[in-house]
Amino acid sequence: MTSRPYVVLSAAMSVDGHLDDAGDRRLMLSNAEDFDRVDEVRAGADAILVGASTLRRDNPRLLVNSEQRRTARVARGLPAHPLKVTVTASGRIDPDLRFWRHGDRKLVLTVDGSLAEVRRKLDGLAEVVSVGPEFDWGRALDELGRRRVERLLVEGGGTVHTQLMEQDLADELHLVVAPLLVGQAGAPKFLGPAHYPGGPTARMRLVETRAIGDVVLLHYAPKQRQRAGGPDRDLDLHWMRRAIELAAKCPPSEGAYSVGAVIVGSDGTELSHGYSREADPHVHAEESALAKLPPGDPRLRTATIYTSLEPCSQRRSRPHPCARLILAAGLPRVVTAWREPSLFVDDCVGVEQLRAAGVTVVELPELAEEAESVNAHLFGTG
Ligand SMILES: [Zn+2]
Repeated sequence: MTSRPYVVLSAAMSVDGHLDDAGDRRLMLSNAEDFDRVDEVRAGADAILVGASTLRRDNPRLLVNSEQRRTARVARGLPAHPLKVTVTASGRIDPDLRFWRHGDRKLVLTVDGSLAEVRRKLDGLAEVVSVGPEFDWGRALDELGRRRVERLLVEGGGTVHTQLMEQDLADELHLVVAPLLVGQAGAPKFLGPAHYPGGPTARMRLVETRAIGDVVLLHYAPKQRQRAGGPDRDLDLHWMRRAIELAAKCPPSEGAYSVGAVIVGSDGTELSHGYSREADPHVHAEESALAKLPPGDPRLRTATIYTSLEPCSQRRSRPHPCARLILAAGLPRVVTAWREPSLFVDDCVGVEQLRAAGVTVVELPELAEEAESVNAHLFGTG
Protein backbone atom coordinates (compact mmCIF):
# COMPACT_ATOMS: atom_id res chain seq x y z
CA MET A 1 0.00 0.00 0.00
CA THR A 2 1.27 3.46 -0.90
CA SER A 3 -0.36 6.65 0.21
CA ARG A 4 -1.02 9.73 -1.85
CA PRO A 5 1.14 12.81 -1.31
CA TYR A 6 0.12 15.81 0.75
CA VAL A 7 -0.83 18.39 -1.88
CA VAL A 8 0.09 22.09 -1.62
CA LEU A 9 -1.26 24.44 -4.31
CA SER A 10 0.78 27.60 -4.77
CA ALA A 11 -0.25 30.57 -6.90
CA ALA A 12 0.20 34.32 -7.18
CA MET A 13 -2.66 36.33 -8.64
CA SER A 14 -3.58 39.92 -9.32
CA VAL A 15 -6.35 41.56 -7.32
CA ASP A 16 -8.67 40.79 -10.25
CA GLY A 17 -7.80 37.08 -10.09
CA HIS A 18 -5.31 36.66 -12.97
CA LEU A 19 -2.13 34.54 -12.98
CA ASP A 20 -0.64 36.49 -15.88
CA ASP A 21 -1.61 39.05 -18.50
CA ALA A 22 -2.44 38.17 -22.11
CA GLY A 23 0.98 39.19 -23.45
CA ASP A 24 3.93 37.00 -24.45
CA ARG A 25 6.24 37.99 -21.62
CA ARG A 26 5.44 36.59 -18.22
CA LEU A 27 3.92 39.17 -15.86
CA MET A 28 5.83 39.35 -12.56
CA LEU A 29 3.13 39.38 -9.91
CA SER A 30 5.19 38.74 -6.82
CA ASN A 31 8.33 40.33 -5.36
CA ALA A 32 11.86 39.11 -4.53
CA GLU A 33 11.04 38.34 -0.91
CA ASP A 34 8.07 36.20 -1.92
CA PHE A 35 10.07 34.39 -4.63
CA ASP A 36 12.49 33.44 -1.87
CA ARG A 37 9.57 32.13 0.23
CA VAL A 38 8.44 29.97 -2.72
CA ASP A 39 12.03 28.71 -3.08
CA GLU A 40 11.87 27.58 0.55
CA VAL A 41 8.54 25.81 -0.07
CA ARG A 42 10.05 24.10 -3.15
CA ALA A 43 13.03 22.95 -1.12
CA GLY A 44 10.62 21.30 1.33
CA ALA A 45 8.77 19.38 -1.40
CA ASP A 46 9.50 15.94 -2.84
CA ALA A 47 8.00 16.91 -6.19
CA ILE A 48 6.90 20.05 -8.05
CA LEU A 49 4.08 19.79 -10.59
CA VAL A 50 2.95 22.16 -13.34
CA GLY A 51 0.58 21.60 -16.24
CA ALA A 52 1.98 21.25 -19.76
CA SER A 53 0.33 24.45 -20.99
CA THR A 54 2.09 26.42 -18.22
CA LEU A 55 5.39 24.87 -19.36
CA ARG A 56 4.73 26.01 -22.92
CA ARG A 57 3.63 29.44 -21.79
CA ASP A 58 6.20 30.31 -19.12
CA ASN A 59 9.12 27.96 -19.93
CA PRO A 60 10.12 27.73 -16.23
CA ARG A 61 13.11 25.81 -14.90
CA LEU A 62 11.39 24.97 -11.58
CA LEU A 63 14.53 24.57 -9.51
CA VAL A 64 15.55 25.20 -5.93
CA ASN A 65 17.54 28.39 -6.52
CA SER A 66 19.27 28.73 -3.14
CA GLU A 67 22.53 26.80 -3.02
CA GLN A 68 22.21 26.60 0.78
CA ARG A 69 18.80 24.92 0.45
CA ARG A 70 20.10 22.48 -2.16
CA THR A 71 23.03 21.58 0.11
CA ALA A 72 20.63 21.04 3.01
CA ARG A 73 18.51 18.70 0.86
CA VAL A 74 21.55 16.66 -0.14
CA ALA A 75 22.60 16.47 3.54
CA ARG A 76 19.17 14.97 4.27
CA GLY A 77 19.81 12.28 1.66
CA LEU A 78 17.56 13.90 -0.99
CA PRO A 79 18.40 14.93 -4.54
CA ALA A 80 19.38 18.62 -4.78
CA HIS A 81 16.12 19.40 -6.65
CA PRO A 82 12.67 17.87 -6.18
CA LEU A 83 11.24 15.55 -8.82
CA LYS A 84 9.72 17.70 -11.58
CA VAL A 85 6.33 16.52 -12.84
CA THR A 86 4.13 17.68 -15.66
CA VAL A 87 0.77 16.42 -16.85
CA THR A 88 -0.59 16.32 -20.39
CA ALA A 89 -3.55 14.58 -21.95
CA SER A 90 -3.02 16.01 -25.44
CA GLY A 91 0.64 14.96 -25.62
CA ARG A 92 1.62 18.47 -26.73
CA ILE A 93 5.10 18.48 -25.19
CA ASP A 94 8.05 20.53 -26.45
CA PRO A 95 11.40 18.78 -25.74
CA ASP A 96 13.32 22.05 -26.13
CA LEU A 97 11.85 23.69 -23.02
CA ARG A 98 14.15 24.55 -20.09
CA PHE A 99 12.14 22.22 -17.83
CA TRP A 100 13.87 19.16 -19.36
CA ARG A 101 17.38 20.61 -19.35
CA HIS A 102 17.80 21.49 -15.67
CA GLY A 103 17.45 19.77 -12.32
CA ASP A 104 17.24 16.11 -11.44
CA ARG A 105 14.53 13.55 -12.32
CA LYS A 106 11.48 14.44 -14.45
CA LEU A 107 8.18 12.60 -14.80
CA VAL A 108 5.38 13.06 -17.31
CA LEU A 109 1.90 11.79 -16.49
CA THR A 110 -0.23 11.33 -19.57
CA VAL A 111 -3.01 9.14 -20.98
CA ASP A 112 -2.87 5.85 -22.93
CA GLY A 113 -3.49 7.54 -26.29
CA SER A 114 -0.56 9.96 -25.92
CA LEU A 115 1.94 7.67 -24.20
CA ALA A 116 3.90 6.52 -27.28
CA GLU A 117 4.02 10.01 -28.80
CA VAL A 118 5.29 11.67 -25.59
CA ARG A 119 7.93 8.97 -25.08
CA ARG A 120 9.14 9.40 -28.66
CA LYS A 121 9.31 13.22 -28.37
CA LEU A 122 11.15 13.25 -25.05
CA ASP A 123 13.49 10.37 -25.97
CA GLY A 124 14.86 9.64 -22.51
CA LEU A 125 14.59 13.19 -21.07
CA ALA A 126 11.93 12.03 -18.62
CA GLU A 127 10.05 9.01 -17.37
CA VAL A 128 6.63 8.91 -19.07
CA VAL A 129 3.69 7.09 -17.48
CA SER A 130 0.02 6.76 -18.43
CA VAL A 131 -2.72 7.14 -15.80
CA GLY A 132 -5.37 5.47 -18.00
CA PRO A 133 -7.54 6.18 -21.02
CA GLU A 134 -8.47 9.62 -19.60
CA PHE A 135 -6.55 11.86 -17.26
CA ASP A 136 -7.35 10.82 -13.68
CA TRP A 137 -5.95 12.91 -10.80
CA GLY A 138 -6.50 10.15 -8.26
CA ARG A 139 -4.33 7.77 -10.28
CA ALA A 140 -1.80 10.55 -10.90
CA LEU A 141 -1.41 11.03 -7.12
CA ASP A 142 -1.19 7.24 -6.67
CA GLU A 143 1.70 7.18 -9.18
CA LEU A 144 3.48 9.90 -7.19
CA GLY A 145 2.84 8.05 -3.94
CA ARG A 146 4.46 4.95 -5.42
CA ARG A 147 7.54 7.10 -6.17
CA ARG A 148 7.69 8.05 -2.48
CA VAL A 149 6.49 11.61 -3.05
CA GLU A 150 5.09 12.59 0.34
CA ARG A 151 4.78 16.31 -0.28
CA LEU A 152 3.74 17.65 -3.69
CA LEU A 153 3.92 21.35 -4.60
CA VAL A 154 1.60 22.31 -7.46
CA GLU A 155 2.57 25.56 -9.18
CA GLY A 156 -0.19 25.84 -11.76
CA GLY A 157 -1.64 26.72 -14.06
CA GLY A 158 -5.25 27.66 -13.61
CA THR A 159 -6.66 24.47 -15.17
CA VAL A 160 -4.61 22.22 -12.87
CA HIS A 161 -5.53 24.32 -9.80
CA THR A 162 -9.22 24.28 -10.78
CA GLN A 163 -9.29 20.49 -11.26
CA LEU A 164 -7.50 19.74 -7.98
CA MET A 165 -9.72 22.14 -6.03
CA GLU A 166 -12.88 20.78 -7.68
CA GLN A 167 -11.90 17.20 -6.81
CA ASP A 168 -11.04 18.22 -3.23
CA LEU A 169 -7.47 16.94 -3.61
CA ALA A 170 -5.63 20.03 -2.27
CA ASP A 171 -4.58 19.91 1.38
CA GLU A 172 -3.17 23.45 1.46
CA LEU A 173 -3.59 26.51 -0.69
CA HIS A 174 -0.90 29.19 -0.64
CA LEU A 175 -2.36 32.15 -2.50
CA VAL A 176 -0.44 35.37 -2.95
CA VAL A 177 -2.40 38.47 -3.92
CA ALA A 178 -0.35 41.11 -5.74
CA PRO A 179 -1.48 44.77 -5.90
CA LEU A 180 -2.03 44.67 -9.66
CA LEU A 181 -5.07 44.88 -11.90
CA VAL A 182 -4.67 42.99 -15.18
CA GLY A 183 -8.06 43.83 -16.65
CA GLN A 184 -7.74 41.69 -19.80
CA ALA A 185 -10.45 39.26 -20.85
CA GLY A 186 -8.03 36.68 -22.33
CA ALA A 187 -5.61 36.65 -19.38
CA PRO A 188 -5.43 33.32 -17.47
CA LYS A 189 -7.39 33.12 -14.21
CA PHE A 190 -6.27 31.43 -11.00
CA LEU A 191 -9.48 29.36 -10.85
CA GLY A 192 -12.21 28.81 -13.42
CA PRO A 193 -15.87 27.84 -13.18
CA ALA A 194 -16.28 24.44 -11.46
CA HIS A 195 -18.46 22.53 -9.00
CA TYR A 196 -16.32 23.14 -5.94
CA PRO A 197 -17.01 20.96 -2.86
CA GLY A 198 -19.78 22.40 -0.70
CA GLY A 199 -20.70 25.03 -3.29
CA PRO A 200 -20.32 28.80 -2.91
CA THR A 201 -21.32 28.90 0.77
CA ALA A 202 -18.64 26.45 2.04
CA ARG A 203 -15.96 28.47 3.82
CA MET A 204 -12.39 27.14 3.74
CA ARG A 205 -10.40 27.40 6.96
CA LEU A 206 -8.02 30.35 6.93
CA VAL A 207 -4.74 29.18 8.49
CA GLU A 208 -2.49 32.21 8.11
CA THR A 209 -2.19 35.65 6.52
CA ARG A 210 1.17 37.32 6.00
CA ALA A 211 2.14 40.61 4.37
CA ILE A 212 5.33 40.11 2.31
CA GLY A 213 6.35 43.55 1.07
CA ASP A 214 3.43 44.72 -1.07
CA VAL A 215 1.88 41.26 -1.56
CA VAL A 216 -0.23 39.25 0.87
CA LEU A 217 0.05 35.51 1.42
CA LEU A 218 -3.24 33.78 2.24
CA HIS A 219 -2.86 30.24 3.51
CA TYR A 220 -6.05 28.15 3.44
CA ALA A 221 -6.88 24.56 4.36
CA PRO A 222 -9.42 23.72 1.60
CA LYS A 223 -10.42 20.34 3.03
CA GLN A 224 -11.41 21.89 6.36
CA ARG A 225 -14.59 23.48 5.13
CA GLN A 226 -17.50 24.72 7.16
CA ARG A 227 -20.81 23.61 5.78
CA ALA A 228 -23.54 25.94 4.62
CA GLY A 229 -25.78 27.27 7.39
CA GLY A 230 -23.18 28.70 9.75
CA PRO A 231 -20.15 27.41 11.59
CA ASP A 232 -20.09 23.63 11.67
CA ARG A 233 -23.73 22.72 12.08
CA ASP A 234 -22.86 19.01 12.25
CA LEU A 235 -20.62 19.74 15.22
CA ASP A 236 -23.39 21.78 16.88
CA LEU A 237 -25.84 18.90 16.40
CA HIS A 238 -23.29 16.45 17.85
CA TRP A 239 -22.79 18.46 21.05
CA MET A 240 -26.51 19.17 21.42
CA ARG A 241 -27.23 15.42 21.31
CA ARG A 242 -24.72 15.04 24.13
CA ALA A 243 -26.54 17.78 26.11
CA ILE A 244 -29.86 15.96 25.58
CA GLU A 245 -28.29 12.69 26.79
CA LEU A 246 -27.24 14.53 29.95
CA ALA A 247 -30.79 15.88 30.36
CA ALA A 248 -31.99 12.27 30.56
CA LYS A 249 -29.77 11.78 33.66
CA CYS A 250 -31.54 14.46 35.72
CA PRO A 251 -33.23 13.25 38.95
CA PRO A 252 -36.95 13.50 38.15
CA SER A 253 -38.92 16.52 39.38
CA GLU A 254 -42.55 17.60 38.98
CA GLY A 255 -41.62 21.25 39.42
CA ALA A 256 -38.66 21.79 37.08
CA TYR A 257 -37.32 20.90 33.66
CA SER A 258 -34.68 18.31 32.92
CA VAL A 259 -31.89 20.05 31.03
CA GLY A 260 -28.35 19.11 29.99
CA ALA A 261 -25.47 21.47 29.20
CA VAL A 262 -21.99 21.06 27.73
CA ILE A 263 -19.25 23.69 27.48
CA VAL A 264 -16.93 23.15 24.49
CA GLY A 265 -13.65 25.01 23.97
CA SER A 266 -12.63 26.67 20.69
CA ASP A 267 -10.32 23.70 20.00
CA GLY A 268 -13.36 21.39 20.02
CA THR A 269 -12.71 19.73 23.38
CA GLU A 270 -15.30 19.40 26.15
CA LEU A 271 -14.39 21.69 29.05
CA SER A 272 -17.29 20.83 31.34
CA HIS A 273 -20.84 19.50 31.47
CA GLY A 274 -23.79 19.54 33.83
CA TYR A 275 -27.45 18.71 34.23
CA SER A 276 -30.43 19.85 36.27
CA ARG A 277 -30.38 18.86 40.00
CA GLU A 278 -26.95 17.28 39.51
CA ALA A 279 -25.34 18.51 42.74
CA ASP A 280 -28.35 19.79 44.70
CA PRO A 281 -32.13 19.90 44.18
CA HIS A 282 -32.09 23.42 42.71
CA VAL A 283 -29.01 23.66 40.51
CA HIS A 284 -29.61 24.30 36.79
CA ALA A 285 -27.66 22.54 34.02
CA GLU A 286 -25.73 25.61 32.77
CA GLU A 287 -25.00 26.68 36.36
CA SER A 288 -23.69 23.21 37.21
CA ALA A 289 -21.41 23.08 34.13
CA LEU A 290 -20.04 26.59 34.80
CA ALA A 291 -19.44 25.84 38.50
CA LYS A 292 -16.98 23.06 37.59
CA LEU A 293 -14.59 25.51 35.92
CA PRO A 294 -12.42 28.00 37.83
CA PRO A 295 -13.89 31.53 37.84
CA GLY A 296 -12.37 33.60 35.02
CA ASP A 297 -11.10 30.51 33.13
CA PRO A 298 -9.71 32.16 29.95
CA ARG A 299 -10.96 29.29 27.77
CA LEU A 300 -14.53 30.44 28.42
CA ARG A 301 -13.95 33.60 26.38
CA THR A 302 -13.82 31.54 23.16
CA ALA A 303 -16.06 28.63 24.19
CA THR A 304 -19.61 27.59 23.28
CA ILE A 305 -22.21 26.41 25.78
CA TYR A 306 -24.74 23.89 24.50
CA THR A 307 -27.91 23.73 26.54
CA SER A 308 -30.94 21.62 25.65
CA LEU A 309 -33.33 24.33 26.94
CA GLU A 310 -33.15 28.09 26.49
CA PRO A 311 -31.15 29.57 29.43
CA CYS A 312 -33.48 30.99 32.09
CA SER A 313 -33.91 34.75 32.47
CA GLN A 314 -35.69 34.57 35.85
CA ARG A 315 -35.79 31.93 38.57
CA ARG A 316 -37.18 31.52 42.05
CA SER A 317 -34.53 29.25 43.54
CA ARG A 318 -31.38 31.36 43.11
CA PRO A 319 -30.51 35.06 42.71
CA HIS A 320 -28.81 34.69 39.32
CA PRO A 321 -30.62 33.23 36.31
CA CYS A 322 -28.50 31.22 33.83
CA ALA A 323 -28.53 33.90 31.07
CA ARG A 324 -26.84 36.22 33.58
CA LEU A 325 -24.33 33.53 34.66
CA ILE A 326 -23.39 32.93 30.99
CA LEU A 327 -22.85 36.66 30.42
CA ALA A 328 -20.76 36.94 33.61
CA ALA A 329 -18.59 34.02 32.47
CA GLY A 330 -17.90 35.82 29.17
CA LEU A 331 -19.08 33.01 26.85
CA PRO A 332 -19.47 34.40 23.31
CA ARG A 333 -21.71 31.67 21.89
CA VAL A 334 -24.75 29.76 23.10
CA VAL A 335 -26.47 26.90 21.25
CA THR A 336 -29.91 25.79 22.37
CA ALA A 337 -32.56 23.39 21.06
CA TRP A 338 -35.81 24.19 22.82
CA ARG A 339 -37.43 27.54 23.74
CA GLU A 340 -38.78 27.51 27.29
CA PRO A 341 -42.58 27.12 27.30
CA SER A 342 -44.70 29.22 29.71
CA LEU A 343 -45.11 26.46 32.29
CA PHE A 344 -43.09 27.58 35.31
CA VAL A 345 -42.42 31.20 34.32
CA ASP A 346 -44.63 33.49 32.26
CA ASP A 347 -42.13 34.62 29.73
CA CYS A 348 -38.55 33.40 29.44
CA VAL A 349 -36.44 35.92 27.54
CA GLY A 350 -33.06 34.19 27.98
CA VAL A 351 -32.29 34.10 24.25
CA GLU A 352 -33.28 37.75 23.80
CA GLN A 353 -31.19 38.86 26.81
CA LEU A 354 -28.11 37.03 25.52
CA ARG A 355 -28.47 38.40 22.00
CA ALA A 356 -28.98 41.92 23.33
CA ALA A 357 -25.67 41.57 25.19
CA GLY A 358 -23.86 40.58 21.97
CA VAL A 359 -23.76 36.80 22.48
CA THR A 360 -24.26 34.66 19.36
CA VAL A 361 -27.24 32.41 19.99
CA VAL A 362 -27.83 29.49 17.62
CA GLU A 363 -31.07 27.54 17.83
CA LEU A 364 -31.36 23.96 16.58
CA PRO A 365 -35.11 23.49 16.05
CA GLU A 366 -34.46 20.05 14.51
CA LEU A 367 -33.58 18.79 18.02
CA ALA A 368 -36.34 20.66 19.92
CA GLU A 369 -38.58 17.61 19.99
CA GLU A 370 -35.82 15.42 21.43
CA ALA A 371 -35.00 18.01 24.09
CA GLU A 372 -38.67 18.30 25.00
CA SER A 373 -39.32 14.55 25.07
CA VAL A 374 -37.01 14.20 28.10
CA ASN A 375 -39.61 16.38 29.90
CA ALA A 376 -42.73 14.63 28.62
CA HIS A 377 -43.89 13.76 32.18
CA LEU A 378 -44.34 17.50 32.95
CA PHE A 379 -46.95 17.82 30.25
CA GLY A 380 -48.82 14.67 31.23
CA THR A 381 -47.74 12.91 28.07
CA GLY A 382 -44.91 10.78 29.48
ZN1 LIG B 1 -31.27 28.27 34.47
